Amino acid sequence: MSETLDCPTANAAPTASRWQALADQVLAGEPLTAEQAGEVLACPDSELLNLLDAAYRVRRHYFANQVQLYLLMNAKSGLCPEDCGYCSQSKDSQAEIPKYNILSRDKLMDGARVAKERDARTYCIVISARGPNEREMKAVETIVPEIKEKYGLHICACLGLLTDDQAQRLKACGVDRVNHNLNTGQGHYEKICTTHTFADRVDTLKAVRSAGMEMCSGGIVGMGESNEDLVSMAIELRELGVHSIPVNFLIPIEGVDMPHQEHVTPQYCLKTLAMFRLVCPDREIRIAGGREMHLRSLQPLGLYAANSMFVGDYLTTMGQPPEEDYQMIRDLGFEIVSESEASVC
Ligand code: SF4
Repeated sequence: MSETLDCPTANAAPTASRWQALADQVLAGEPLTAEQAGEVLACPDSELLNLLDAAYRVRRHYFANQVQLYLLMNAKSGLCPEDCGYCSQSKDSQAEIPKYNILSRDKLMDGARVAKERDARTYCIVISARGPNEREMKAVETIVPEIKEKYGLHICACLGLLTDDQAQRLKACGVDRVNHNLNTGQGHYEKICTTHTFADRVDTLKAVRSAGMEMCSGGIVGMGESNEDLVSMAIELRELGVHSIPVNFLIPIEGVDMPHQEHVTPQYCLKTLAMFRLVCPDREIRIAGGREMHLRSLQPLGLYAANSMFVGDYLTTMGQPPEEDYQMIRDLGFEIVSESEASVC
């Protein structure tokens, strides 16, 4: 065995075999340690393609060349009482964004039609809120059975903090999955939000899990966190057993007081995606908000580690035209999978 393999933290740059050894390890069922995940994030740029090759081997094992697409519907925008420092919809944000209460049935149904037309597997209904009020709960309970009946879409609801009772009501009306991001590592959480805690978010995920729905939870890269914070979030998500992990890259928005982080280069974004793939090998890893801005011309490489992405716009920022996403997937030789074909982890 080479010196590099014996001693992963030796000064010598890791070699291609080091990343393949990590892939071998996770494919054999032995989870990555925090130290190994940190090593992935610290991968030299010169080793990036070798790292991606190892991540792709793991992605291929669980998801072949499938790509799952998601379409976001910002069903209620702005007006949030929380102070999440990265969010254009927070009470402290000065960003000029649309502000409206929960959309009408017709608009929500129209979004589902677009999701179906765009080959999205999942329609994500998102509201800005600390948690849903009764009117919002009832709107979701009414629309979800209609959407499922008419379009057969997988439904993800992102409604903020949930009680056990609310989680059970969502399950009962047909919601398949709830998104509630941890956003960052536990140690960094109080620097990005003071109106609720990391533990509040974990409790919501546990309520979702107890109600029998899939958990979707990920984070945002570029909020002043350390590599250790990102690793700690990835390991927490693995331990919670989340099904789907959206990895966002912070989009600086005028009026939102969260400075751009210079180290979030396209290469660093790819290392982050590879780290999530190796820490959570059989989970769905989604390239989420900030894909176009931060990965730029390296976007296609992201799909060698991740196996899903959003098509269309994000909550308050624009995505690239869907045709460019379809072209990118075709150029890679990958295939879009629909609800019925998806191999759900
Ligand atoms: S709870 Fe959600 S919508 Fe409200 S400020 Fe935080 S991230 Fe934004």
